[in-house]
Amino acid sequence: MLTKFNLFFLLLISYVTVQAQQIKIVDKPISYDSTRIKLSLQYLKERHGITQTAPTITPKIIVLHWTAAKTFSSTFNAFYPAKLPNGDRKDIAQVSALNTSSQFLIDRDGTIYRLMPENYFARHVIGLNYCAIGVENVGSADFPLTDAQLKANELLVRYLCKKYNIEYLIGHYEYAKFKNTPLWKETDPNYLTGKNDPGADFMLNIRNNMKDLKLKGVSNN
Ligand SMILES: [Zn+2]
Repeated sequence: MLTKFNLFFLLLISYVTVQAQQIKIVDKPISYDSTRIKLSLQYLKERHGITQTAPTITPKIIVLHWTAAKTFSSTFNAFYPAKLPNGDRKDIAQVSALNTSSQFLIDRDGTIYRLMPENYFARHVIGLNYCAIGVENVGSADFPLTDAQLKANELLVRYLCKKYNIEYLIGHYEYAKFKNTPLWKETDPNYLTGKNDPGADFMLNIRNNMKDLKLKGVSNN
């Protein structure tokens, strides 16, 4: 017999289940060898003007991206080596040999992969790497991000906000608006690249879904 008492607990359990939507993160590390450590420390010093002995960050910003590549494996393989491949990405290679990467990579089905310890340095956003966690999503303008990815990004941002003192959530295309703010640290004022990822619609949707966190964007920094 379903008593009022039992009904109360049934409702309580379903409420807790919904609230706690467990996040599943798959660890799939890229190479973070001595070369990557050395180049990350060099990047921190020469680009951000920060001298450190460990390649770690204090996360304040989450930057969402799309990969512009169509598969998880092509992106994973591109991020894997410590150095940019010879002749690749000339616009950014002249600034540093450190390969690009991100702390997280989300596949089309919403699977969240962690590519390195969350508070390790990754090169994914000019001027802000020293305090930014990057979340890459397999997709592009012609290959729009999926609903599963939207949900996974939301879960991941909520998870990171519980662990770190995150103040900002931005799309990569918004990064340059931080120039001339105290957060921006890049020694060459002319070093900027044009970005459109992960699309304005995706940012609008994710911000709508997580208004409760009161994260700042670029207009109110
Ligand atoms: Zn990007």
